Amino acid sequence: MSRRLPRCAPAGLALGLALSMAFAVSAVAAAPRSTLHVDARDIDRRLVRVRQDVPVAPGPVELNYVLWTPGNHNPSGPIQNVVDLTITDDHGRRLLWRRDRELMTRIHVEAPAGASFLTVSFTYITNQPSVISRSTDSYGFRDFGGLNWNTVLFYPTGADKDEWVIEPDLRLPIGWRVATPLALARSGSGRFQFKPVTLAELVDSPVIFGSTLKTYTLDTASAAPHFIHAVALSDTDTALGGERLDKFGVMIDQAEAVFGPFPRREYHFLVQLSDEMRGFGVEHNECTSIALSADTFRTAERDGDPIGTIPHEYIHSWCGKLRAPEGLLDTNYHTTADTRLLWVYEGLTTYYDDVLAVRSGLMTEEEYLDAMTNRIADSTLRDGRLWQSVEDTAVLLRHLRSRSASWGDKRRGVAYYGEGAFFWLEADAIIRRGTN
Ligand SMILES: [Zn+2]
Repeated sequence: MSRRLPRCAPAGLALGLALSMAFAVSAVAAAPRSTLHVDARDIDRRLVRVRQDVPVAPGPVELNYVLWTPGNHNPSGPIQNVVDLTITDDHGRRLLWRRDRELMTRIHVEAPAGASFLTVSFTYITNQPSVISRSTDSYGFRDFGGLNWNTVLFYPTGADKDEWVIEPDLRLPIGWRVATPLALARSGSGRFQFKPVTLAELVDSPVIFGSTLKTYTLDTASAAPHFIHAVALSDTDTALGGERLDKFGVMIDQAEAVFGPFPRREYHFLVQLSDEMRGFGVEHNECTSIALSADTFRTAERDGDPIGTIPHEYIHSWCGKLRAPEGLLDTNYHTTADTRLLWVYEGLTTYYDDVLAVRSGLMTEEEYLDAMTNRIADSTLRDGRLWQSVEDTAVLLRHLRSRSASWGDKRRGVAYYGEGAFFWLEADAIIRRGTN
């Protein structure tokens, strides 16, 4: 039964400012298809084996590994974890390849006369993220794991991400289950064959899996179904129920009250609970991939952070995915993004993740005011404010995640989140004052 809640008045901020349409789910047309076999049966040893057939024409071919992963805003593609790389032609003959000297995620190879596809084989080493790749990397443990497809595929230069079609399949230890927005074509004996999707849809659709996978359907008033899926080392860590589960449902309703009806078919929160992974979340159109500490679902009642990651990534369905600031539209995965407007993309999202957390009871008003006071104090006490604009932190972000703690107050860090949120708090206050 769906909950019917009094809807809060929209807080007044339309997403129209400097935004444009970011993502259109394209029809799977009669484009050349790539088949992608990913064998993760050895993932508890941190090894995933990949075999991909890539349709090509004879002559020089450039194969690209995803460098700029959507939602990550960094040139973070973890190419250093790709090993045992071989490329063969359609007769199984091994071909010489060389790496591009400037774009190191690009491989050059010559497809021989008559070739219609090349087979790319490699092993991906999981659990070895860099500071900037961790949210879009792949992980494996004894009883569960998570795969981002961007870590296990190549695409030719010139392939249109919204038209280039891939048929993915995934092998897992027997008995493991999967959660992903991808549609299954068939499954059995640990093999999951998904329906063909475009390159963009595949990169946008991570998978979590494991013997401990648990799925919760959220009770919301939304027309779109929403699910929380969780994996962890033990069933105790994935248990989620009662009032807390209800609050996530309220959060969905409150998000729709602010932004309008959820713009996609359905939504999946893909949550990995482990103390071995550092906390992160990354947004996708129909899901989010989130890593939180093992006890996150168990430790009530201080819900604000890190549970705030959940409303944050969900809001990105509208702010960042449905619409994105100029420069942050995903064109392909190897062209440098213009990140100046992240104070809109992340600032507005950060402002609203607190609003939704309070409105849904995930955080109390008192906790919110404490957090805001601390954030203001932390910002105003930093000398970094005297020389660096918030916009400049958005431009410099790839160097800020791994910054040294030395002389921390002379640095602003990723201020486009927290201080970006202040702009939107002020904008909201101006609108409320002007419109009552
Ligand atoms: Zn974000």
